Amino acid sequence: MMTRRQAIKTTALASAALAVLPGAIAQTTNTAAPAAAAPTGPFTLPPLPYAYDALEPHIDAQTMQIHHDKHHAAYVANLNKAVAEIPYLRIITVEGLLQTLERTPENFRAAVRNNGGGHYNHSLFWQMMSKSGGGEPKAELAKAIETSFGNFAGFKTKFTDAATKVFGSGWAWLVLDGKELKIESLPNQDSPISPSLQPTEINDSMGKKLTTIHPSQPPLLGLDVWEHAYYLKYQNKRADYITAWWNVVNWDFVAERYAKSGS
Ligand code: MN
Repeated sequence: MMTRRQAIKTTALASAALAVLPGAIAQTTNTAAPAAAAPTGPFTLPPLPYAYDALEPHIDAQTMQIHHDKHHAAYVANLNKAVAEIPYLRIITVEGLLQTLERTPENFRAAVRNNGGGHYNHSLFWQMMSKSGGGEPKAELAKAIETSFGNFAGFKTKFTDAATKVFGSGWAWLVLDGKELKIESLPNQDSPISPSLQPTEINDSMGKKLTTIHPSQPPLLGLDVWEHAYYLKYQNKRADYITAWWNVVNWDFVAERYAKSGS
């Protein structure tokens, strides 16, 4: 349930958004409009930054095509459908939607969480891989990995373990937790960018709970271990997919994210 304060915030946000969006008001008040036409925006499927077969032989072209053109496209279409019902959500970025999930009206929250997460996570995922990927990170990111995990091999083992152990559908993530790197796994399309998913209790020295904060954990690297990401080529052998995936990790992109997130 929404608390009163959240409700006030939501209402204020809605009013502010609607005030600058006369078109959106017309849309909400016109309840007689047919709902048949599929909404085409505001979210769009970003093109793959390379050809479908660019990551062969590690990730096959057919998997990439279906994963991007069908699965990612479906998240985008369903997110557009969800926000079409709440016009003020249409002016918020996908990052913004995921960072303020607790303020999304309850009956739309699951749709925004799943499809917004799906859209955001996959938009990152394509960029986190490259034909010229693999190997090891360099410079500042390499140092940070050593600080947090001892060495690159230790990091790789721990991340692989997290990805292997995701039960059912989900992702393994390398995130920035304050100044430190951390590995975590999240179910479904939950994204580390949603602060409400990692509430942290702040206690006083006697262990009494003072408050709960929702730290933001920018995702640096993510691995999709939904079966749709590997089943055509690897069938049930998720471990083989994970082993192959290390050969296409785009460390330049991860390093860029690390540099931006840390500043
Ligand atoms: Mn996927």
